[in-house]
Amino acid sequence: MYNFECDVAIVGGGPAGLSAAVAAKKEGAKKVLIIERDESIGGILQQCIHPGFGLSYFKEELTGPEYAGRFAKEAVELGVEFLLNSMVLEVNENENTVICVNSEHGMTEVKAKSIILAMGCRERTRANIMIPGARPAGVYTAGSAQRLVNRQNQMVGKKVVILGSGDIGMIMARRMTLEGAEVLAVIELMDYLAGLTRNKVQCLDDFGIPLYLSHTITKIDGYQRVKGVYFAQVDENKKPIKETEKYIECDTLLLSVGLLPENELTRKAGIEMNPITNGPKVNQYMQTSAESVFACGNVVHVNDLVDNVSTESMKAGKFAAQYAMGTLPMATKKVENVSGENVRYLCPHSLSVAEENEKVTLYFRVLHPELNATIRVKSGDEIIATKKRQRVNPGEMENITFDTSLVKDNNVVVEVVKEA
Ligand SMILES: Cc1cc2nc3c(=O)[nH]c(=O)nc-3n(C[C@H](O)[C@H](O)[C@H](O)COP(=O)(O)OP(=O)(O)OC[C@H]3O[C@@H](n4cnc5c(N)ncnc54)[C@H](O)[C@@H]3O)c2cc1C
Repeated sequence: MYNFECDVAIVGGGPAGLSAAVAAKKEGAKKVLIIERDESIGGILQQCIHPGFGLSYFKEELTGPEYAGRFAKEAVELGVEFLLNSMVLEVNENENTVICVNSEHGMTEVKAKSIILAMGCRERTRANIMIPGARPAGVYTAGSAQRLVNRQNQMVGKKVVILGSGDIGMIMARRMTLEGAEVLAVIELMDYLAGLTRNKVQCLDDFGIPLYLSHTITKIDGYQRVKGVYFAQVDENKKPIKETEKYIECDTLLLSVGLLPENELTRKAGIEMNPITNGPKVNQYMQTSAESVFACGNVVHVNDLVDNVSTESMKAGKFAAQYAMGTLPMATKKVENVSGENVRYLCPHSLSVAEENEKVTLYFRVLHPELNATIRVKSGDEIIATKKRQRVNPGEMENITFDTSLVKDNNVVVEVVKEA
């Protein structure tokens, strides 16, 4: 077996892995290695050729490849090393090793002082949502259609219906229109948008593409190729209302019905998981229940903005480097972060409070939309931080920052309440 040693080993060379690598190097880790299964780095951003990236991180509008390219360039300049075409098969936290299969060296064992998981996520497919009908050609996940169109120069269809109003679906509605296809409808089960409002405006409204909220596809028509789809309005239990069923003739159906963090390696390593996010539980250092293993990016929780991924991953890189060098602050108290009213999950899930005061930011999604909302952080009976929001929506990630010196209890509760 080929052997490799480093201070910090990072699984995945997407924006999360790249930002973590840059931060680990800047923090002083000598040997930082990114292990990536693809032949090139950049992750999902390599196929996101549209603008809209980097507005908060770089304060300018970049395309996905431009955004990833900035971190890749910095990583190379700082001396980060790469093992490309290398599929990681196992992460062993007891021995601090990563086992991968590399096209040049074969089976390879990487020994590291700390490990960062940055494997991203994959799309939910037709099998995950069980739409009735035969299995004709012409049904794609929105991301695989995006890869075919943007990276492989292959058009996937002419008359398109999109199920799901997630960001990838809306971005593909615009992309397919610009490529000459007719996008007939975006159909969404919930009574609110699943993605960012800015994507609805720029990708649907600007192109006159109709959005059907509280609707779903009841059947795919066609045997060899998609001929059309039946769709209907849903009731309050999300069951289709038969009398409202309609038919749209189309040759392509794109699915934008959610993302699943890629955590097979994490589960196999016995790391504690959060059943809501399907990602590992982490503290504010992005440290998992295995103390030498850190995690960041979409593998922890699905982010809508890559800028947030970078900010979070810089923390993982910094603290994984500190762990490798033996300088990570020792916790004096553990605090659980608890989801209160209208909060679906919190990330990080806990705080390892050290002696000195620290500012921490918790990221979260709400369960349902609300107007004129207040975000509150409570420690015992005391409110230690508040933030007002004109509107909150499950499709858009929220955050709130507070000082750990204010935390007097063993937990903090975050809630989103309607202003009186
Ligand atoms: C279609 C689409 C459109 C988007 N549009 C926007 C937008 O307009 N603006 C914006 O800010 N954000 C956008 N995003 C979000 C942004 O792209 C993601 O938040 C970001 O890419 C997540 O970074 P990541 O590194 O966690 O995951 P990824 O980019 O998925 O990278 C994970 C990497 O890990 C590798 N990997 C996985 N498993 C293994 C393994 N076992 N061994 C080795 N390597 C492995 C993968 O090959 C991949 O390179 C979009 C996302 C998608 C999917």
